[in-house]
Amino acid sequence: ADAAEARLVVAALHRVAGTLRDLEPELGRLDAVAGDGDHGRGMVRGSSAAAAAAQAAAAAGHGAVACLRDAGRAWADKAGGTSGVLWGAGIGAVAHALAARPVADPSARLAAAVRAGIAAVVALGGAQPGDKTMVDAAEPFAAALEQGAAAGQDPAVVWDAALDAALTAAQATADLRPRLGRARPLAERSVGTPDPGAVSFVAVAGAVRSVVVP
Ligand code: ADP
Ligand code: MG
Ligand code: MG
Repeated sequence: ADAAEARLVVAALHRVAGTLRDLEPELGRLDAVAGDGDHGRGMVRGSSAAAAAAQAAAAAGHGAVACLRDAGRAWADKAGGTSGVLWGAGIGAVAHALAARPVADPSARLAAAVRAGIAAVVALGGAQPGDKTMVDAAEPFAAALEQGAAAGQDPAVVWDAALDAALTAAQATADLRPRLGRARPLAERSVGTPDPGAVSFVAVAGAVRSVVVP
């Protein structure tokens, strides 16, 4: 069972890396509006390294938790930039949550793991909703997962509702002025453009869908 779960982690991360490769130019363009234009590059580097690290761990016989832990470290090491460090910490926290507390209900398990990842991002980066960061998409995503799990819905239904909430929230960041990160000095220029980290968050959550809710 653990080898099967490890394979799921590897598959999910390969999907994430592939999706981000397709999105790389768009993320770079969004980040160039008020930031330094490297968000696509960073996300591709980080996710590709994460997928490779997870694959190596799985090949060495490690389980899903160890695969995710190695993936988080590799993402933070190889991505460069603020988002890389935050994604690394978030994935590490997901691994920790899955290891620490086995939850039987699959929807509740997903919700708890995602919540732990986002809590780590918030603890490290200090962003709150409204600051125009990935947290603006991540927070409603986690909240929707928790609501769906509490309502006893199936993982696929819960994941899709959460994706909808995250997409709407990511698009709504276009109206905001960044209060954190590299885009802050050019905050006015960013109005009208969604936050690149919020957009990439939705892409990642969409990419893993078919793996986490088969
Ligand atoms: P850098 O800004 O170092 O070039 P990236 O371009 O890869 O890094 O990532 C920029 C994204 O990181 C932003 O669009 C935003 O979503 C996210 N971000 C920046 N600072 C924070 C923070 N303190 N907390 C959460 N997310 C942040
Ligand atoms: Mg950047
Ligand atoms: Mg940068």
